[in-house]
Amino acid sequence: VDNFSISANSITGESTLVYQDFARQVQKTKGIKIINFGIGQPDLPTFGKIRESAKKALDEGFTSYTSAYGIDELRQKIAEHLSNKYGKVKKEEVIITPGAKTALYLAFLMYINPGDEVLIFDPSFYSYAEVVKMLGGVPVYVKMKFNENTGFSLNLSEVESKLTKKTKMIVLNNPHNPTGMVFDPIEIEKLMQIAKERRIILLSDEIYDYFIYEGKMKSVLEDPDWRDYVIYVNGFSKTFSMTGWRLGYVVAKENVIRKMAALAANIYTCATSFAQKGALAAFDSFDKVKEMISLFRKRRDTMYEELKKIKWIQVYKSAGAFYMFPYVGEILRKSNLSVKDFSLKLIEEKGVTTIPGEVFPLDVGKEFVRLSFAVNENDIREGIKRMKEFIDMLM
Ligand code: PLP
Repeated sequence: VDNFSISANSITGESTLVYQDFARQVQKTKGIKIINFGIGQPDLPTFGKIRESAKKALDEGFTSYTSAYGIDELRQKIAEHLSNKYGKVKKEEVIITPGAKTALYLAFLMYINPGDEVLIFDPSFYSYAEVVKMLGGVPVYVKMKFNENTGFSLNLSEVESKLTKKTKMIVLNNPHNPTGMVFDPIEIEKLMQIAKERRIILLSDEIYDYFIYEGKMKSVLEDPDWRDYVIYVNGFSKTFSMTGWRLGYVVAKENVIRKMAALAANIYTCATSFAQKGALAAFDSFDKVKEMISLFRKRRDTMYEELKKIKWIQVYKSAGAFYMFPYVGEILRKSNLSVKDFSLKLIEEKGVTTIPGEVFPLDVGKEFVRLSFAVNENDIREGIKRMKEFIDMLM
């Protein structure tokens, strides 16, 4: 049983869960209240209409397998929703998956052969590179550039320089985890142009599309030619506070979706039946989403103001998602700590959980930490106060 596959052994990165586990341990042994800036999900319960709709489905016995594509009504709702927002999407161009992670997995499984290169921005959500490696693909990292006033940029000249004959895909995530960026629409358009002209698949993860506090986001579905090169991923986890329901979806050209459904039928059969029925009510819950976003905007402002009080860090005021990604390089150099040790010590000494940027997943993050502001305002103030004390102690 210890003779693992190449795929299993390819997983080398750490997930954010390691830091949550360590915080739990510290809470037990030291008894300090943990302030959890490590959280990757809204802290609100799933909205009422969605819960009711799922309960009704359960009570009515909607508990069997569904089609591998997901239930028709939900595919239809998603198609209508995206058609209203962007441009025409048909029901046949949607597949429901158990979470956006599975949607991403299917997308990579569809295209990656051993040796294929996938352009991944550094920093990025940790699981893209791991799945690419799992399938024998090669992650090729494109370093983003940081500026305190304008945030991170996609660095398109670096994208062009990393393209080779083996480049199969580019992975885009907008709004962005972990930096909180909503990328400049002009940059997104140029990236789309590169993918389209070079016939490279653009895998676009837009799971934070409702978490926008500043500016406007450009979706890849706005291009009338998207079917030629786009695989679009989204989900219910973040927008409707439904992380545990495990519901995501892919939008792509119809024959791509058919092939994905064939894979799905052999891997997981379908997304959970009554969860899908619950998600039907998500489309009547946008008033609640709006309330959540105004709450998160206030929290973002508070976190930013508090972080600005720490003179040793540089921070860009996030325009999207629910993360701040401050630069702590100066502190690390003076204290001779790696960013990982910085995060671990901050948990150990002050009970504040942050995620070291190197989890995302390579070099740029080695000088940044990720803080989630999906946390109540009092805890934000208390947590940053403790963080300031910790940093003052180090410097
Ligand atoms: N994509 C990004 C950028 C994320 O941050 C996350 C969750 O943290 C996911 C995908 C996964 O979402 P889901 O819960 O739908 O699998």
